[in-house]
Order: sequence, then C-alpha cells, then structure tokens
Amino acid sequence: MNLPIEKFKNIETPFYYYDRSLLQATLDTIKDSLKEHENYHLHYAIKANANMDVLREIQKAGFGVDAVSGGEIRQALNAGFDARKIVYAGVGKADWEINLALEAGIFCFNVESEPELQIINELAKAQGKTAKVCFRINPNVGAHTHANITTGLAENKFGIAMQDMELAIREAEELSNIDFIGLHFHIGSQILDMGDFEALCARINELQDRLEQQGITVQNINVGGGLGISYDDPEGKPIPDFKAYFETYAKNLKLRDGQHLHFELGRAVVGQMGSLITKVLYVKKCHVKQFCIVDAGMSDLIRPALYDAHHSIQNITSSSSDVETYDVVGPICESSDVFGKDEQLPTCSRGDLIAMRSAGAYGEIMACQYNCRNLPKAYMF
Ligand SMILES: *Cc1c(COP(=O)(O)O)cnc(C)c1O
Repeated sequence: MNLPIEKFKNIETPFYYYDRSLLQATLDTIKDSLKEHENYHLHYAIKANANMDVLREIQKAGFGVDAVSGGEIRQALNAGFDARKIVYAGVGKADWEINLALEAGIFCFNVESEPELQIINELAKAQGKTAKVCFRINPNVGAHTHANITTGLAENKFGIAMQDMELAIREAEELSNIDFIGLHFHIGSQILDMGDFEALCARINELQDRLEQQGITVQNINVGGGLGISYDDPEGKPIPDFKAYFETYAKNLKLRDGQHLHFELGRAVVGQMGSLITKVLYVKKCHVKQFCIVDAGMSDLIRPALYDAHHSIQNITSSSSDVETYDVVGPICESSDVFGKDEQLPTCSRGDLIAMRSAGAYGEIMACQYNCRNLPKAYMF
C-alpha cells in the first residue's frame, strides 16, 4: 500500500489526503508528453479540485485554468494563475461573473448561446474592452461513460448546435466588442475509450472543412477534457496515459497552420493523488448483510451516490488475515449513502482506517454540509 498510514493516525477523520509526490509526478508526465506538441496548451479544469495546495502545484507547473464560474476565476487568480491562460465556459454566466472575467483579462470566454454573446458584447463595451470568445459547439458525439457526465449530445444543455455555428460566427463578427478566436468542445468525463476522442476529432475535421468553404478559419481549437482514470486499480495505474491521449489528437485532428490546440483536463490531473480517509465506527451484522459503518458520508464524497461511481475501498490498518464481505456505508440519513456493496475487506473493527482511493477529483470540492456536518479537511504531504 502506498499511503503514509503512520501520519494519518493523529489526524481527525474523515479527511482528504493528497499525495504531493504523485501530483508532481503526474504534472511532470503531462509536461513531458506535451513537449512534442508545442502548439498544445493545458488549462486545468479547476472544478475537479480547487484546493489551494493543489492549485499552487499546478500553477507552478505552468498550466492555465479552465473555469466554469466567477468563483473559480477568483480562486485561480488567488492561486497565482496567469489570467491570460484562463478560459471560461458555462451555460449561465451571470453579469458579475462576465465583468470579473473582463476585468481580469482572461484568455477567452467559451460562449454557449447567442443571448450570452450579446450580453458579453454589452458588458465589454461598457468596460471599453474587447472580449475574446470561442463558441462551444455541441458536436453531438456520445461518450461511453455515465449518462450524468455526458455533455456532448444534442439533448444536453451545453453549447451551440452545429447547424447554428456559422450564424453565431457571422453575428460575432458584426459585434463591436467581440473578437471571435475559436471553437470549443467538451464531450464528457471519465472517458477511457480513445475512440470517443477520435470521434470528436472526426467531427471537428468536418466542421473545419465546412467553415473553410465559407472562408472562415479559426486560431484556436479547444477540445475540452474528459480523460478518465483507473478507479479499479489506483496503485497499478496511478498516472493516466497522457501520451496516448495527446497522440490520439495528434493523429486524428487536422490542425491548420498556426492553429493552437487547447485541453481542459481535470480528473486526469488530480484524481489519483487523493484519498478520503475515514474511520470505522461500527460493524453491524444483520441477517442478510454485514455493514461497515464509517464516519465519512456522501456529504464528504458524493460520487457514488450521484454517479453510481465506485472508489477502491481499502482497510489500511486491519491486521486480520481473514477476509469478510461488507456493505461500506456512511452515517447520513439517505439510503444512497453507500460507498460500496459486497466489498471484500480484511475483518473490520471499530477504529480501523479505511481509504477510499482515487478521490482527488470531484471529491472535496463537491462536499456539502448536509445533516449539519462539517466539511472535510484536506492535507497534502
Ligand atoms: C468538467 C469540464 C472539464 C473537465 O472534465 P474532466 O473530465 O475532469 O477532465 C473540461 N471542460 C469543461 C467545459 C468542463 O465542464
């Protein structure tokens, strides 16, 4: 087991543990894989994990940020990220958020509708600025992932429909305080089948050909994020295959001369470096089941309840060589407060520490105070 268990013993549970050396190794791998592609740019999707310690490491590595709210832009600026490397998406940007982004001087708005474009133009005019915009296009490409995390289907709320793309571009060209600089896509999350990204490339190639026939070329293509991690084997596969991921784009996407390609990876950057550490409160034996009741709940890590996600669950302090079957559950008054069913674990006893692995992305940041619980703390070492 690659967790510093000794150091956990004096920390109040539940808490998130972030492995600094794994985060650094992951960032180094990304930088290495990007070396061969000098026109590629990574904007870390800050919604995956906005913890200050985590952000500082990513900022030091030189990456930009993909934000989906004004609060995220603020957090990125506080962490020292360069505003000129921030991209900003979201279907419902409020006026104050647009103003904040304009004042900060972000790289671009990823615009998701025509009415939003109009408002950005107005607000930019009022500030005497020109807003750089990409259009987020809904490519109607499915992803082989959970329905709640596909975003690129025509029925999803995200982006502008492909058939409205030219109209939007023509409109942007008419607007005085808008500078149209590219196209943006994002098809979903936790994608492990490179075929899904190949399908996105094929769609972008079609769209670029279509635009070229009308004399339109764009400077920037942003393909979003979505690269998945191994939830089943966090120790065997601690770092996602970034090389294969970037190669997929290099092979399949036909970039025009001088075009820049942008990525917005979140989960793949921070997922594996995090674990939620929790303590066994009770082992409750019923007639049909045995429950291992821990002090973390869905308020600390909601992914299992929200997405049917499964995190690898380890009893990291049991000294037993017997293995038993447990449903691992939290204390919250919801039947969905279940981390794992029929988990095979070494015999669990009160006080044992349990690790939920691969919890660095969409863990701490999604925590809430339901049942008037405290928010989990996080530690990086
Ligand atoms: C969530 C999101 C991402 C990051 O997704 P991951 O699966 O964490 O890589 C990137 N771009 C946009 C627009 C997003 O909403």
